[in-house]
Amino acid sequence: MKPLIVANWKMNPQTLKEAKLLFSRVKKSGGIICPPFIYLSVLKANGAQDVFWEKSGAFTGEISPLMLKNLGVKYVIIGHSERRKYQRETNEMIAGKLEAVLKAGLKPILCVDKVSQIPKSTKGLIIAYEPLFAIGTGKACSPARASKMRIAINKAAGRVPVLYGGSVNSQNAATYIKEAGFQGLLVGGASLKPKEFIDIIKNVCYR
Ligand code: PEP
Repeated sequence: MKPLIVANWKMNPQTLKEAKLLFSRVKKSGGIICPPFIYLSVLKANGAQDVFWEKSGAFTGEISPLMLKNLGVKYVIIGHSERRKYQRETNEMIAGKLEAVLKAGLKPILCVDKVSQIPKSTKGLIIAYEPLFAIGTGKACSPARASKMRIAINKAAGRVPVLYGGSVNSQNAATYIKEAGFQGLLVGGASLKPKEFIDIIKNVCYR
C-alpha cells in the first residue's frame, strides 16, 4: 500500500488567498490535505481536522460528518492532542466522533499518544501515533522508539494502518516508513511549506 501522507494545517493560514496558493502547490502531491473548515468548500480538499458527533441540529459552531461528506471530504482527523488539551476532548467524546464518522462513510484518523486511548472496536480506523513531546517541537521521536509503539498499537488494535506524527520533515520522513514500519505520516508544521511537504512525499514514496 502506498504510504498515506496527511497534511494538518492546523489554524493556518490566515487568508483565503494564502490557503489557495498553498493548496495549489500541494494538491497534486497525492497527500491528504486537512485545511481549516472555512477553506474546505473553496479548496475541495480531501481531509478535515475535526468533526462533531451529531448528525444535525442545535449545535452552534459545529460541523457534521454529512456536511464534510457532501463537500467531498474523505478523511477526518479525530482526537488530536491539541483538541484533547485546549477543547478538553475526552476518549468518550472521541468515541462518539469515531462512530459518527464511520457511519457517514468517512475515514477517521485517530490520534493517540498512548495505547490506552485506542477504543475497543478499531474497524475502519487509521491510527496516528503522535508522541506529545514530538508535536511541533522539532524533537522527532527516534524511529526505534516509534517502532516499539507501532508494534504495541498493532497488538492492541489489530492490523489497522498506523501513521507516525511529530516533527516530521523531509530528512527524517523515510525512516518512519522504511525502518519503523509505519504506513504513513501525519505532518503539521512542514505541511505549510509546499516544497518541504512535496519532498516528504517524494522521499517516502519514490525512493
Ligand atoms: C501534528 O500536529 O499532528 C504534528 C505532527 O505537528 P508537527 O509536524 O508540527 O510536529
